[in-house]
Parts: sequence; C-alpha cells; structure tokens
Amino acid sequence: MDADAVVVGSGPNGLVAAVTLARAGRRVLLLEAADRFGGGLRSGELTLPGRVHDLCATVMAMAVASPAMRALDLPGVEFVHPPVPVAHPLDGRPAALVHRDARRTAQGLGRDAGAWLATVGAAAGAGLPLVDLFLKPLGPWRTAGAGARTFAQAARFGLAAALPATTFARRAFSTVEGRALVAGMAAHSVRDLRAPITAGYGLMLASLAHLAGWPLVRGGSQVLADALVAELRSLGGEAVTGHRVRRLSELSAPTVVLDVSPRQFLAMADLPAGYRRRLARFRYGPGVFKMDWALDGPVPWRDPAVAEAGTVHLGGTLEEIALSEAETNAGRHSPRPYVLAVQPYAADPTRGGHTFWAYCHVPAGSDVDMTDAIETQIERYAPGFRDRVLARHTMGPAALEAANPNLVGGDITGGLTSLIQFLRRPVWSPAPWRTPLPGVFLCSASTPPGPSVHGMGGWQAARLALRADPRKS
Ligand SMILES: Cc1cc2nc3c(=O)[nH]c(=O)nc-3n(C[C@H](O)[C@H](O)[C@H](O)COP(=O)(O)OP(=O)(O)OC[C@H]3O[C@@H](n4cnc5c(N)ncnc54)[C@H](O)[C@@H]3O)c2cc1C
Repeated sequence: MDADAVVVGSGPNGLVAAVTLARAGRRVLLLEAADRFGGGLRSGELTLPGRVHDLCATVMAMAVASPAMRALDLPGVEFVHPPVPVAHPLDGRPAALVHRDARRTAQGLGRDAGAWLATVGAAAGAGLPLVDLFLKPLGPWRTAGAGARTFAQAARFGLAAALPATTFARRAFSTVEGRALVAGMAAHSVRDLRAPITAGYGLMLASLAHLAGWPLVRGGSQVLADALVAELRSLGGEAVTGHRVRRLSELSAPTVVLDVSPRQFLAMADLPAGYRRRLARFRYGPGVFKMDWALDGPVPWRDPAVAEAGTVHLGGTLEEIALSEAETNAGRHSPRPYVLAVQPYAADPTRGGHTFWAYCHVPAGSDVDMTDAIETQIERYAPGFRDRVLARHTMGPAALEAANPNLVGGDITGGLTSLIQFLRRPVWSPAPWRTPLPGVFLCSASTPPGPSVHGMGGWQAARLALRADPRKS
C-alpha cells in the first residue's frame, strides 16, 4: 500500500491515531508486532478453552470518559457496568464500596461522608469538562463546555491532586474506610503513595466511578480493538499483524505515528543528540506480576457485597497499602502486596464462565513468582478461593515485556508516573508527541496524559500530524 501515514503499534493510542488519520482522508497502514491487534486491549484463552481473559486492560473508566474515545461512537462495542464499580474489603468489618452514586458511597463512610462528597464528589460534579482539561494537560486548553467555573474547579481539584495520597488521605479523611479507599485508588499509579500527585490519580479514578462508571467491554476488551481495526479498514486503511518495525528507515510514508516506548524510539531512529539525551532521561516504573484464573464459581468473598464489584482493591488499610507500595518502589517485594483484582463476570456473563484476574506491583524486571503472595491476599478476604481454581496463568515482567515491548521491565504505566514525568512525558515540550524528525510522532502511554485506555496520545499525535501536513484535511 502506498500509505500517507504508517502507524506502528495497535494499542489504544495507535488505533485511535490510525482511525483519526483515516477519518481525515489519509491512507493509513497500521503495523502491529504481535499476532493480534490491541496491545493492552488484547483478550485470549489464557487458561481453558472457551474462557475469555483480557491480557491487560479490562476496566474502561478512562475509555468512556476520554474525549477521543467518546468521539468515536463505534458500532458493536457495548460497555457493561458491574452493580458496584469498586469494593475494598477490610479485616473484621464490612467492605468499603464505591457506588456509581456519590451520595450512596458517602452514606457508607460514616463520618467521612462529607469528606467524600467535598473531594471525590466535587470532582465528579465538575463533569466531563474537568476530565477533558486533565486528559489534555498541555493543550488545547479550549475544551467544549469548559468555562471559568471549570477552571476554578480544576484549580481546586489540582490543589488536592498535587498532594501525596498519604497526606491527602490523612488530612481529608478520618475513617479506616475512607483512607483505605483513597489508598486503593491512588495505588493504581504504581508509585510510592508518599510521592506528589499520587492523590491526583486516586481522585481522578474515584471520581470517574461516579461520573462515567468503571465498565467493561462485553465479550472482552479485544472487541474494542477489533472494532477500531474494522473502522480503519472500512475507511480504506490496511492493518497487518506479525510485523515488528525495528528501524524507521523501513518506512517510507510522509507521516509516521509510533505507539512505542521512548526506549524503542531511541533504538529505531537516528535522532539529534540533544533530543536523544533528553529522551534517554525517561524513567520506567516498577513492574507487575499478573495472574488469570478460570474458576468453577464466583470468588467466595467473606463480605457478599464484594461479589457485586467489577474491581476489588486488596491490601487492607491505608498504612498497609502505603507500606507495600513504598517497598516496591524501593526495589523490594512486599510480602503482603497491594493486589488489584478484577472480576469481569460481575458485569459480563459472556466470557465462558467465571474468569478472574489480579496483579501486584513488583520491582522492575523482577523474576520472583508472586503466586502465593497474591493468592494469600485473596484468601484473606475470600477463604476457600484456592478451592475454586480450575486453572491459573501467570505473567511476570519478562512475559509481559515479551508480549508487548512497551511494557519495559513489566511497567504497565509506560514510564514512571512521577510529578516530573507528568510534566516531561517523554520530554519537556508543549507538544511532546512531536519529535525532531519531520512527520514522525510519538503517541504511546509514554506521552501525555499517560497510561490507561483513553487513546488521547493517539488523538493528539494524529491531530499534530494532520496540522503538519494539511493537504487532505
Ligand atoms: C496487566 C495490565 C492491566 C491493565 N489494566 C488496565 C485497565 O483495567 N484499564 C486501563 O485503562 N488500563 C489498563 N492497563 C493499562 C493499559 O493497557 C495501557 O495504558 C494502554 O494499553 C496503553 O496503550 P498504548 O496504545 O500506549 O500501548 P499498548 O497498549 O501497550 O500497545 C502498544 C502496541 O504496540 C505494539 N508495538 C510496540 N512496538 C512495536 C514495533 N516496533 N512494531 C510493531 N508493533 C509494536 C505492541 O505489540 C502493542 O500491541 C493495564 C495494563 C496491563 C499490562
């Protein structure tokens, strides 16, 4: 194909870039190294025949809130909501629950009800204009519906968001439940919770539970990837699997959009020395150890309310979770790790039975088998869990990186989610998707706004590419 644009990598960012370019009339060629499209959206039979497991992302909170994804309106993609977005079991007391409804959530938090409404509830109440503002942190700042009120709400949100999660949780909340919820949410950042802006990750994710929900894609996340590929093909684009690009010189199109890590970009291109130095400063975060199970029934949670939740945060109190994340970020394995678990069957009965997944954070590149540590944390809140296991599948950092070179050392966040790398992702620039090479753009989770299925990096890169070469727009 004589392409106007080549997109390398078919994660959500690459797919959104490809579709955005194709919708603007470009002839797009999409090249994917793996044997399936989707990157973090891939699904497969990891355990038993007929069991559909998401290899990576399942929870589509960011996808349904993202301006890029909202604009796509793809046929065949159905987002299904679990009865409860998030549960956080605790020892010897009922689980803390995050409902779709902020007031109902607050009611469950006793004397922290007001704190929840004033922080998470207020962020959710600011609505999608606030989300748009934070997903497009480096512009364009004019966003549909964003007025002076949104900027005032953003400033208020930003003051709390800039804090370490531990500081925010202790200042704003006084109950075990309220503080634990903040910790469980903030730990998605894979950072030491004493680090700045970890409160922001927690606040954003928690508020999305009220604003948009934490849904799943019916049938598995692969359905979303396949719908994007189908949309690309319907617009005349070509999409190829099993094609790993190693050097930019292999590609001849005037526009190239790369859904790759900075490390790969350094290896595949001859870059000016200054940019190369800046890119080489980019840091990766800890890794994850992920497990998938085929179960013969639902997880036997001690607190039955947890069965209703799509996502379950395991690890106990703020103090315990903060300790676990501090250990991981210091390069050690936590013996009682924070475990993030997802039970797709709570929302989607079409995955061939009760499939369940969980991961814990581990030092980058770790080769330690965390099976026992993860299952022990699950048993702590669901005694008898192991008896339900028909088959299990594990992926440590090496296996994750082998399946997707963007997961450097098992880092699922596309680079450390520190304050400095929030601003300098992967380099300090008002348009970090642009590279010094004419027509070449980066769009992976190593560009703003960072990790998750939102496609915003792809949307920004495509937008810049169209602006740089407007002949067909
Ligand atoms: C275990 C796990 C669980 C997660 N859970 C969630 C979740 O529930 N919700 C959520 O929102 N996010 C989740 N994430 C994060 C989310 O998956 C990522 O942030 C997101 O997929 C990043 O998208 P991307 O387009 O930048 O890259 P990726 O999805 O990583 O895709 C990159 C693609 O590019 C391909 N590629 C790379 N280099 C080349 C090359 N040289 N040539 C050709 N192809 C190449 C790769 O094979 C891959 O297919 C999870 C991630 C993991 C690993």
